[in-house]
Amino acid sequence: MEIINRRKRMMSVARKLRREENRTIGFVPTMGALHEGHLSLIHEARALCDVVVVSVFVNPTQFGPTEDFDSYPRDLTRDSGLLAEYNVDYVFAPTVEEMYPPGFSTYVEVENLSGQLEGASRPGHFRGVTTVIAVLLNLIKPNFAFFGRKDAQQAILIKRMVRDLAFDSEIVVLPIVREESGLAMASRNNYLNDEQRRAATVLNRALSKAREAYEEGEHSAPRLIELVRTAIEKEPLARIDYISVNDDETLEKLDKIDESPALLSLAVFIGDTRLIDNVVLGRTKKQDAVGAKA
Ligand code: AMP
Repeated sequence: MEIINRRKRMMSVARKLRREENRTIGFVPTMGALHEGHLSLIHEARALCDVVVVSVFVNPTQFGPTEDFDSYPRDLTRDSGLLAEYNVDYVFAPTVEEMYPPGFSTYVEVENLSGQLEGASRPGHFRGVTTVIAVLLNLIKPNFAFFGRKDAQQAILIKRMVRDLAFDSEIVVLPIVREESGLAMASRNNYLNDEQRRAATVLNRALSKAREAYEEGEHSAPRLIELVRTAIEKEPLARIDYISVNDDETLEKLDKIDESPALLSLAVFIGDTRLIDNVVLGRTKKQDAVGAKA
């Protein structure tokens, strides 16, 4: 496994793999602090592609000025050990200066989709995400790039960007990996103490209740949202940021869930830690069920 720090080296390695060796490249972008959620993406990339590239980069442009960029967990030694165990071929771990060289001034924004839900709570977040993913896709030009449904809106935006700007990569979106308790795995779970970790399980419990109600015939978005709100408000450590039901592709806010899949998503503070989770309703695929393991 080679760890690459330079854009130039990453570009030339990827070019050689594609052109001279004719090998399919699978790419998994991450911010490190790896857990089983990330590893499920890598596992799928390994199964589908000849060569697996994983990026580890805590991207400053997707953090707001008062957010946790400085304290975000970083441990490249631990991450590299895990990636080697998973037979990853290349780790791309650039510095901020390498990713954003002096004078960097080009940004990608998926209009409309980027200002809602997470984008409304975290202005500028998705501009940072889509810009860094655009750079990474251009450097590596993977055949497949893998993302988790944990960040459902992110996956929707990236699919749209790839379509609109004609990137030559296929986007693969994989199910949420959860702990036994139902808590969606996330690097930010590292911030939670034991009591908060227990409290955080309310997110999945509330979403599961909504899914059950939906399956029993409740298709009104406001009523499903109310059900989730009531469940979460029972947990004293939880403070709701938003709960929303949107079309799973256009993110249009829905009043009623009909034919097309609906994204029921939420963001909740447990103490100072902001957690997100979601479930897709109106689609019976097993992989989208709350609690499904990858
Ligand atoms: P991050 O390091 O948080 O930027 O995440 C990198 C990728 O891993 C993103 O595509 C996430 O959606 C995905 N991911 C993070 N947590 C999970 C999870 N619990 N299950 C599935 N995918 C995840």
